[in-house]
Amino acid sequence: MIPLVVILGRPNVGKSTLFNRLLKKKKSLTHNLPGVTRDNIYGEVIHEKVKFALVDTGGLVLEGEDEFEKEILVQAEEALSDADLVLFVVDGKDGLTPQDKEVARLLRQANKNTLLVVNKVDGFEQEDLLISDFYGLGFPMVAVSAAHGYNVRFLLDQVVENL
Ligand code: GDP
Ligand code: MG
Repeated sequence: MIPLVVILGRPNVGKSTLFNRLLKKKKSLTHNLPGVTRDNIYGEVIHEKVKFALVDTGGLVLEGEDEFEKEILVQAEEALSDADLVLFVVDGKDGLTPQDKEVARLLRQANKNTLLVVNKVDGFEQEDLLISDFYGLGFPMVAVSAAHGYNVRFLLDQVVENL
């Protein structure tokens, strides 16, 4: 079985953008509606001769009121239970939100091997400011721009080191 890496986080933080970037695909799987991924989507990545499976989830919509949101939550939880490593994605531009804190609590409770990915850091000059909110969550942290590719190679290095 190849290791499983699961991308989690609240909606709209850039999980699908990151998924596409890590798969190095030009063809976008991001939806017309940003922040919405209906089903878990799987891909395979090879980095430094290490192969792993990557899952893009619809995200943890924790207040999941309607059936659509509940279904997405169930799928995310299924992926999480099988994960060897979780990429917990947050939005550096939005800063830390209550939903992020809730996801962090779930991941700690599940005792999951987690890398915190602070996305939307669109250049190194923004890095210190945008990541400062997230130190308190207590996860090892990598700042990236999924949209522009900033630091994504370093993130891949960290992923294969932590499998
Ligand atoms: P998801 O719901 O977590 O899968 O988020 P999406 O990948 O659909 O992205 C949500 C929105 O954030 C889209 O409008 C993306 O273009 C935008 N986005 C994603 N990554 C970045 C980034 O690195 N920088 C900026 N500025 N915007 C981003
Ligand atoms: Mg998505």
